[in-house]
Amino acid sequence: MGKLHDVIGFVQNEQTALNHVIYNSLPDQLARMLVEDREFSYYMSTRDYDPERPVMALTFDDGPKIGNTERILDVLEKYNVTATFFVVGSNVNENSEYLLKRMVDLGCEIGNHTNDHEILTGLDAAGMKAQIKATDDKIKQYAGVDCHLLRPPGGAYNDEVLANAGKPLIYWNVDTNDWETLSTEHVIHEIRTYKHDGSIILMHDLYECTAEAMEVVIPELISEGYQLMTISDMAYAKGIDLENGVNYYDLGMFPDEDEEEE
Ligand SMILES: [Zn+2]
Repeated sequence: MGKLHDVIGFVQNEQTALNHVIYNSLPDQLARMLVEDREFSYYMSTRDYDPERPVMALTFDDGPKIGNTERILDVLEKYNVTATFFVVGSNVNENSEYLLKRMVDLGCEIGNHTNDHEILTGLDAAGMKAQIKATDDKIKQYAGVDCHLLRPPGGAYNDEVLANAGKPLIYWNVDTNDWETLSTEHVIHEIRTYKHDGSIILMHDLYECTAEAMEVVIPELISEGYQLMTISDMAYAKGIDLENGVNYYDLGMFPDEDEEEE
């Protein structure tokens, strides 16, 4: 009997140890899958997507900026929503690493806004590629993720930019003009006026007015039924395959497209 109890005790101990290993390693495995497997990542982040309700992508350019980017991330975290940050490579370093890591932890997407905020139409092909690659490399180095989207500074493009981008080019249909007006009220007003299903909102995480506007607008949009997500998640939710070298201004249905189908 003594021996049987020993065996049972041994099995129970092993099982406890095994459970411990399984439950402790699961979050790590999930986190790795979320970062490495795009399809799985999209599925996880859009599995609660409701096609009956509108979606929107908030996008922030020119950062990251210590302090202000953090404040925007605080709002996103508070309301459990995600956004896309088009970072400038020259702002990505050991000091801002924690901001990029937090973006990834919160499920946000990191896009490429060139290394030096260069107007790409002023560069030759090699110059364009160098600007884009330098930022891709820094995003990989400091955030541990691959970058799949480009937003050209100033929105400037020509055929050569499209040919050398190597990524979809993400524009916008709502320009908040936050950088010019520095007005919280203006940012809120533009989003309230021009928002629709599939909207891409252009903002900059450098400015206090933008962070302040997010504190007002995000809970408001959620209460209206908007589902706030990253560009790639919104494309996945809408069944749109983003193609390299193509400009996207909006991921919604345009009224005239509806008419054409009829
Ligand atoms: Zn910019």
